[in-house]
Amino acid sequence: MPETRLEIKVFGDPVLRKKAKPVKKITAEHREILSLMAQSMYEGGGIGLAAPQVGISSQLIVADIGEGLYKLVNPKVVKCRGSQAIQEGCLSVPGVCIKVKRAKQVWVEALDENANPVKLEAKDLFACVLQHEIDHLKGTLIIDYASLLEKLRIKRRLSVLKESNKTCKLKL
Ligand code: ZN
Repeated sequence: MPETRLEIKVFGDPVLRKKAKPVKKITAEHREILSLMAQSMYEGGGIGLAAPQVGISSQLIVADIGEGLYKLVNPKVVKCRGSQAIQEGCLSVPGVCIKVKRAKQVWVEALDENANPVKLEAKDLFACVLQHEIDHLKGTLIIDYASLLEKLRIKRRLSVLKESNKTCKLKL
């Protein structure tokens, strides 16, 4: 079998703005995508990755903050509490860091890769990562949380990313 690699999509790619579709039936293909996503996340030095970031508009995410790998299908935040603001980066918006205000604690319901229901209670960094990845499934990016001043600060960077997406098709 040839080695498959997923390409990380960068700001400017329309797939990042699409609402990802819920997975109706989890198949071997979804499990394969989830493991390739985990591989890309580790290789990119990320702690979370959502399927739209690799060009697949389905509700699949992976996350590992150093306490084990989670592969989640159709994840939803069902309850949240408190607030926190952490400087976040994103593999799809390289070179940009935004302080994002999110819930400090979240309860997430999802399916695992074998279609078993999963209920997670996450706090602090893990809560932040889950909310960030679930945002990707809605087409939301960290830059959407930027203040006016931050928007000015990152404007140049974003136009460079967008331009490179248009002109540079050859990604090595
Ligand atoms: Zn991201």
